[in-house]
Amino acid sequence: MSSPAPSVPLPPAGAPERSAVVDLAAVRANVRRAREVAAPARLMAVVKADAYGHGAVPVARAALAAGADALGVAHVAEALQLRAAGVDAPLLAWLHTVGTDFRAGLAAGVELGVSGWELAPIAEAARALGTTARIHLKIDTGLGRNGATEAAWPGLVRAAAAAEAEGLVEVVGIFTHLAVADEPERPETAQQLARFRAAVDAARAAGLRPATRHAANSPGLFTARDQERPEDMLLDMVRVGVCLYGLSPFADRTPEELGLVPAMTLRTTVSAVKEVPAGQGVSYGLAHVTDRPTTLALVPLGYADGVPRAATGGPVRIQGRTCPVVGRVAMDQVVVDLGAPGLAAPEHGLLGAEAVLFGAGENPSATAWAEAAGTINYEIVTRVSPRVPRVHVDGAPAGAGKEAP
Ligand SMILES: *Cc1c(COP(=O)(O)O)cnc(C)c1O
Repeated sequence: MSSPAPSVPLPPAGAPERSAVVDLAAVRANVRRAREVAAPARLMAVVKADAYGHGAVPVARAALAAGADALGVAHVAEALQLRAAGVDAPLLAWLHTVGTDFRAGLAAGVELGVSGWELAPIAEAARALGTTARIHLKIDTGLGRNGATEAAWPGLVRAAAAAEAEGLVEVVGIFTHLAVADEPERPETAQQLARFRAAVDAARAAGLRPATRHAANSPGLFTARDQERPEDMLLDMVRVGVCLYGLSPFADRTPEELGLVPAMTLRTTVSAVKEVPAGQGVSYGLAHVTDRPTTLALVPLGYADGVPRAATGGPVRIQGRTCPVVGRVAMDQVVVDLGAPGLAAPEHGLLGAEAVLFGAGENPSATAWAEAAGTINYEIVTRVSPRVPRVHVDGAPAGAGKEAP
């Protein structure tokens, strides 16, 4: 029996139709790069929010393999997921609610950030478990978010010293978070670091011996050399996230300029191609109307997949050309204008062609999507939804258009 010759390209066996491909070799290269910039300070790899959408467990393992000294997450629940997967590295969680299960955190050996009210329930949990909680006190040096105010700080360090004397807690660290480190010309960062030094001095005067002082996030790490004394920024440890995913935290510096490699490639294949005349309305609201005959490609990723609905104009790379999304982003799909008529003919092979929204190398960047959507690259990668399978690879995936680091 003869089977008809396939008229469309066959995908590789088992390849997901739509995926966020995460290159763990890129993550490791970025960790090594960040360590080199941070040295001699140690490095905490921030893997909150499922490692900014990249997959917390595989990213945590890759970061540790590349020399990360510790891991950081926002929530105790995130820390417990890492522990359940067998990740046993030092691990800090810093954002709590009155409902946080501190006992579970302590039982799993999770270090806890303490901004104020948390000290009492954490000390209670330690007493109940017969253990000593390892805590990092947080001072708000200007961000106005978490952390003790300067006014509350003396009371917090006194209470922590008392709990330490009872053996309930050990203050292993003091930290703060920077507000404008991505804008190195602004004076507030130096002011925050000066307040931080004063807070550490006050803690020491109260008898605490915090071994690990940490402040720098990714932008802080890459601008430490702009400070009068870089070591005041780098301190004992940096606490970095976005740079490990190969994204630049600066509006005016590319990952390449920072020595970083984007780790995530968001890709699918073209699901339909059609020729349209001038005057064709495209997508809901008919907010786009073609002004010439052209070829449109349907790309099956939409806002339910995390593509921002506001990101009309976002770039998609198909067969070596980067073309814009036209019309509104829909729940499941976007329409890309290939820029010329006549491309739907089968010999062009566009049906089934790889379509890359963002990635490394020649591909459009997550930052370009952020610009199209009026947001930041952090949000673009973090919001890729669970409907898109994460596929972890080690080294450049074929067709992702990037070099192995
Ligand atoms: C998210 C976060 C970080 C990491 O910030 P990046 O800019 O991604 O490096 C560090 N510290 C705290 C407290 C955070 O919430």
